[in-house]
Amino acid sequence: MEAKAEKLKIDLINWYQKNKRDFPWRNTSNPWKILLIEILSQQTQLERANKYYKNFIKEFPSPKAMSNSSFEKILKMWTGLGYNNRAKRLHQASKIIEKNGFKKIYPNFEVLPGVGPYTKNALLSFAYGEKVLAVDTNLERIIKRYFGIDSTTDFLKVNSKYLLKQVDSRDVNQAFMDFGSSICRNSNPKCSICPIEKNCQKYFSKLKNHNEKFKGSNREVRGKIIKALVKNNHIKYQKLLEEIEYDKTKVKKALIGLEKDKLINIKKKNIIEINSN
Ligand code: SF4
Repeated sequence: MEAKAEKLKIDLINWYQKNKRDFPWRNTSNPWKILLIEILSQQTQLERANKYYKNFIKEFPSPKAMSNSSFEKILKMWTGLGYNNRAKRLHQASKIIEKNGFKKIYPNFEVLPGVGPYTKNALLSFAYGEKVLAVDTNLERIIKRYFGIDSTTDFLKVNSKYLLKQVDSRDVNQAFMDFGSSICRNSNPKCSICPIEKNCQKYFSKLKNHNEKFKGSNREVRGKIIKALVKNNHIKYQKLLEEIEYDKTKVKKALIGLEKDKLINIKKKNIIEINSN
């Protein structure tokens, strides 16, 4: 599993280097900017949150600026984003940060209103460069599908270190985010163009289901009959049964279909041959 976790990390980072989304906060380590975008993007797509981020950071470039603002002003700027209680929590958080400073709060950011385990780790990774995974729905979905598991809790306890080994945690976390938003999407994942498809358990199980459905199907029996005829030129019914090892009912059904489609002839004494006309 460790080797597979490391392989996933390398493949995702390679994909990310070529496909990463460019957002203004992505190259900053300013914790206020990181906190702002993280709270704006809770339950909101990054592209949409980014539009609000630009207005907010202009108006409130520091926790002090926001803490001195009226809540009405923040709420007005929040219009259209939804989940307004986030605005309230952000305002409260700005006051706590203004009073204590990020330095005093570090690393216990969960004391801030609106900051849960994900946002805490996003701050630790993006603002402080710590080797932690910001576990959001994208990361969980990719891991579950790729490794064919139902829960990531135990997996991450063991494998987080391999996903973070020898890379900047910022890159890994952002790679999961971008990959989950554009390739391994919640609905309609783009498996057909996915660069990690070959090692993905979800992809394998899809393939397995497909193969299981095909096994013993009329299509498969027809294919086997044609293969036997190509090999033998013509063949007696009994020998065909021995050679392809399907039950009589399935073989008869396939033979009737093949004859109807003018692909074979069934001659006297049950000799079967390819219809070359
Ligand atoms: S093959 Fe499909 S399910 Fe697997 S990681 Fe790629 S997009 Fe996700």
